[in-house]
Amino acid sequence: MTAPSSDLIYRLLVQSVVDYAIYLLDTDGNVVNWNAGAERAKGYRADEIVGRNFAVFYSEADRAAGLPQKALATARAESRFEAEGWRLRKDGTRFWTNVVIDAIHDDDGKLVGFAKITRDITERHQQQLKLVEAKELAEQYSQQMATVSHFLDSVISNMPDSVLALATGAKGDDGAGTNRHEILLANGHARHLFATGGADIKGRLVRDCLGAEVAEYIERLAAMPANGHAPSDDSLVQTPLGPRTLRSRTALGSRPDGGGDYLLVITEDVTDELAAYAQIHHMAQHDGLTNLPNRTFFHQRLEAAIRDSSEDGTHAAILCLDLDNFKNINDAFGHGFGDKILLMLAGRLKKCLREHDTLARLGGDEFAVVLPRVRRVDEAQHAARRLIDAVAPPFAIDGHSFTVGLSIGIAVSSQEGSSAEQLLRFGDMALYEAKRNGRNRYELFHPDLEAASRVRRQMEIDLRRALHRGELQMHYQPIIEKEGCRISGYEALIRWQHPVKGQVPPMEFIPLAEETGLIHELGARALNLACQEAATWTNGATVAVNLSPVQFKNSELVKAVALALEDAGLPARRLELEITESVLLANTEGNIRTLQALKDLGVRISLDDFGTGYSSLSYLRSFPFDKIKIDKSFVRDMGESREAMAIIRAITGLSSSLLIEITAEGVETEEQFRQLQVEGCSHFQGYLFGRPVAAEHRVEELDTRATAQ
Ligand SMILES: [Mg+2]
Repeated sequence: MTAPSSDLIYRLLVQSVVDYAIYLLDTDGNVVNWNAGAERAKGYRADEIVGRNFAVFYSEADRAAGLPQKALATARAESRFEAEGWRLRKDGTRFWTNVVIDAIHDDDGKLVGFAKITRDITERHQQQLKLVEAKELAEQYSQQMATVSHFLDSVISNMPDSVLALATGAKGDDGAGTNRHEILLANGHARHLFATGGADIKGRLVRDCLGAEVAEYIERLAAMPANGHAPSDDSLVQTPLGPRTLRSRTALGSRPDGGGDYLLVITEDVTDELAAYAQIHHMAQHDGLTNLPNRTFFHQRLEAAIRDSSEDGTHAAILCLDLDNFKNINDAFGHGFGDKILLMLAGRLKKCLREHDTLARLGGDEFAVVLPRVRRVDEAQHAARRLIDAVAPPFAIDGHSFTVGLSIGIAVSSQEGSSAEQLLRFGDMALYEAKRNGRNRYELFHPDLEAASRVRRQMEIDLRRALHRGELQMHYQPIIEKEGCRISGYEALIRWQHPVKGQVPPMEFIPLAEETGLIHELGARALNLACQEAATWTNGATVAVNLSPVQFKNSELVKAVALALEDAGLPARRLELEITESVLLANTEGNIRTLQALKDLGVRISLDDFGTGYSSLSYLRSFPFDKIKIDKSFVRDMGESREAMAIIRAITGLSSSLLIEITAEGVETEEQFRQLQVEGCSHFQGYLFGRPVAAEHRVEELDTRATAQ
């Protein structure tokens, strides 16, 4: 290598350059000199690197690939080699570099070495890489965007709501400033709901392609401030599907293509939902059979009526209604029949009431009426009378005719303020009183009834206690047999010896026991006591025990009778069970099965109090009774009343041909006894022979009067 005169200057210049590594290689690639830039870039001092091959700057892999030799070969062949790539520093770290290798020839054109200029461009390289990454990311993002966009398209077309995208801002040509909304997008539901025949409306103007009402609705939405979160008020709109209730949300957006703003209109057709909700609401407040308000709704109406009446100085009245005998019809003819009566009844009752009165079915055959703004108590009484009269005519159903009675309890709110609960309670007490006083009537609540109700509640508590403390005992009244005029048996009659009140008459506590269900326990107790006591009688007399119709509701009745007989060791033939005809009126088939099962045990069945109720002769056909007991009212009246006598004759005549025994009850005089014998009665019972007394005092022998004749 020749040294030019400017060599020194040149060398100093080169060596002081720090931004570039500039050094010479000999023809084999060994480092000849080293400048400050090279030392800075590669970390070698001149004495560490001069003489070593420049291949040390390459990675092992690059060296193995022969890259250093190839670079020199290129520079040799083409005078210049330029490349970018990773190179190694002395400490082994990498840097990205721009490398230029120039071949140096002497004046004769002979290669004398190479000038190598290396620039560390790691930073720029990294920026470029980041850009590439960003580009890739952008591409990837755009792909994701496309996926998202596709997904959104699918959501929009499949969502149950109608979706419209409208271009905003374009004013109409009419100069009136009307926005001309072009439809940018309409999903299937929107086309179905808004466009006649589901026509394609994309690209068209709202005004041009939609019906007047629909267009007006959409433009009204478009004119409102968009708020994607809060829906608009429900609007009834005439759509191609008919009048529909619509609820919409609007949201403003910008088109990504710079095409301006668009308005997204999402419309929900809530017609069916509202109808279903209204239906559910109605069902929750009304009785399914009669469609009358139910108990819940009744309560609301009652509370409103009380509120209103206290404001204008009037009263709220309630009428508590109870059907007499309905349960019997229901049991006898089935619920379908009962339902028909209830429906007809509801219709009749409703006709008697004012428009603002509320007739409600509280359950079963329990109805109630709220009369708001009643000025005088007699208005409520008149309403009650109208209702009773309306129910009186027979109901004709499927060729049958039924009469249903109606009892009503009335309670009227006081000016001092009444609660709904209180009025209902008072109405119930008045109803109880109405039923007690003979049914088919109304009673107005008065404070005495509350006291009476308290007494009843107390009596119920006492009666429960009486069952446990053995305060109930049986008294026995003799039954006389015609043949031989001897005592053939006794009717067992329950007595309650109250520790404070003394003897409580059965008329007071039996109905209460029937109402409260205590009758089952009471009846079983009576049966056990009677059987046990009868078992001790040495004369073989029978014992007659009364069964309440309510006891027939208990499926265990037959078992209870069998158990009582077994426990007492009493032969079944010595037990008579007395039932009233209401047992045959209610649930006839089931009860006749029960009667038959009782008869199968070997006990005898008597029809008690005959002549007082319906006294249908068909009862005598429906079951083979062993005995009929003529009610004491006929015996009492037979002296004065031809009718009473005629009925007695009819019964005795019938039973003698049916071979049924007849007991005349309530025989008090010798004359009655004589005449009843003439009429053909087989058994007699009454004060003439003996009153009901405790077992230990029971009459065992007839006194001389009775046996005298
Ligand atoms: Mg009796």
